[in-house]
Amino acid sequence: MSLNPRNYKLSDRTARMTAHDILPYVDAMPETREFLLKIIDVLLDFVRTTNDRNEKVLEFHHPEDMKKLLDLDLPHRGVTLQQLVEDCATTLKYQVKTGHPHFFNQLSTGLDLVSMAGEWLTATANTNMFTYEIAPVFILMENVVLTKMREIIGWTSGDSILAPGGSISNLYAFLAARHKMFPGYKERGTKALPGELVMFTSDQSHYSIKSCASVGGLGTDNCVMVPSDEHGRMIPRELERLIVERKQKGYVPFFVNATAGTTVLGAFDPIIEIADICKKYGLWLHVDAAWGGGLMLSKKYRHPRLTGIERADSVTWNPHKLMGAIFQCSTIHFKEDGLLISCNQMSAEYLFMTDKQYDISYDTGDKVIQCGRHNDIFKLWLQWRAKGTEGFERQQDRLMDLVQYQVRRIKEQSNLFHLIMEPECVNVSFWYIPKRLRGVPHDASKEKELGKICPIIKSRMMQKGSLMVGYQPDDRRPNFFRSIISSAAVTEKDVDFMLDEIHRLGDDL
Ligand SMILES: *Cc1c(COP(=O)(O)O)cnc(C)c1O
Repeated sequence: MSLNPRNYKLSDRTARMTAHDILPYVDAMPETREFLLKIIDVLLDFVRTTNDRNEKVLEFHHPEDMKKLLDLDLPHRGVTLQQLVEDCATTLKYQVKTGHPHFFNQLSTGLDLVSMAGEWLTATANTNMFTYEIAPVFILMENVVLTKMREIIGWTSGDSILAPGGSISNLYAFLAARHKMFPGYKERGTKALPGELVMFTSDQSHYSIKSCASVGGLGTDNCVMVPSDEHGRMIPRELERLIVERKQKGYVPFFVNATAGTTVLGAFDPIIEIADICKKYGLWLHVDAAWGGGLMLSKKYRHPRLTGIERADSVTWNPHKLMGAIFQCSTIHFKEDGLLISCNQMSAEYLFMTDKQYDISYDTGDKVIQCGRHNDIFKLWLQWRAKGTEGFERQQDRLMDLVQYQVRRIKEQSNLFHLIMEPECVNVSFWYIPKRLRGVPHDASKEKELGKICPIIKSRMMQKGSLMVGYQPDDRRPNFFRSIISSAAVTEKDVDFMLDEIHRLGDDL
């Protein structure tokens, strides 16, 4: 059996040792090395099983049963090295294999091995990204990668930073926008504002945008949800109507978020029309391309989806999604240089001394509301070196081609599957039609029935461990499946497996 904890035996002597018997406590390099190599064996077996289509995607247990299978106890006296190795094997044995070619569940999937190697190195270097003095190489890499990403957006200058996730990246955009438009806010708070601020985003946007209104002191009522069309794209006419309406009521519109690749439907808001409206009313334009940003790398798919993105004031882009960088890797970009530092700088004297003997513009830590910052750059830099920009482009195109294949297969089996809409991204929204509903005319009551079987099929695939595909309802319809192809491991065969397996699991429902 794969990842069986008993398969990873250390030599008798090392097995009995504890962490106190190896580096850095005692000079015991051979034993330290043996221990770490054994852990690497465990990791490599996880890599192998992740890429083996005969292996399960997951071994599901309910939380109460899972607790019984694990020994999570924190002991008074530390366990042996042998036990630690077995703990690692057990941990991965029950971990969902998010890089398995039959995992279609999340926006961040796949196990890019070069990026993973980068993350191993990052853990070993174990540094903090706040100052050049303790992370010189990584800081320079960050500079190079972020400059390249801004170039791809279409900017020749500006500033960027890596943030812990797209949600926090969006928050950085919100904060910088408010700072740019009401610079007094930093010192004087709400007293510096000319009135109640309002922001606008589509009803399909990621919930982190609304969260900005809550965290940022506007209140969620002041995050106006702009209606979207049937494809999930913001309706610019509605945006303008709502801006005018709020202005007339005395509110102060300042920020518009356009989503490039919505989380559920994969829709792209029309950036150019939204940019025109922002220009007309003097509003900050943020583009949340956390999901769809990767398609900027593709000549074939960038347009019309992301056309006009260079007109944004800020852009969120998560390499841990479409680009397949190891989780977590998220970036936020600004067209104007200097905003991040002037917005967030607190000049902590113990960290950001101004009399240092090197160029302190490389002390990026004072640009953020965090203090310490995880090194999320190395795995992306290494991955980019491995693929080249051209390799990334090919990968994006391949994912989109696979989605076209999936759409074709769904249409070819229209007695079994109902495609909800033509996808713009790698999200495919569909229903499975069980035997009893085949041939029944498609109407609201049928949709309701189709919605009810989604959680049952999902539960069956989890129990069997053969597949993972997500489902959810939205404002317009009950539950439907939404598969994601963002893993470089997926092939046409896996797409067929997904559809066939759903058919096997749901035929009788
Ligand atoms: C995933 C996603 C986010 C949030 O990113 P995290 O890294 O999960 O915080 C924001 N916006 C969109 C459109 C997303 O798809």
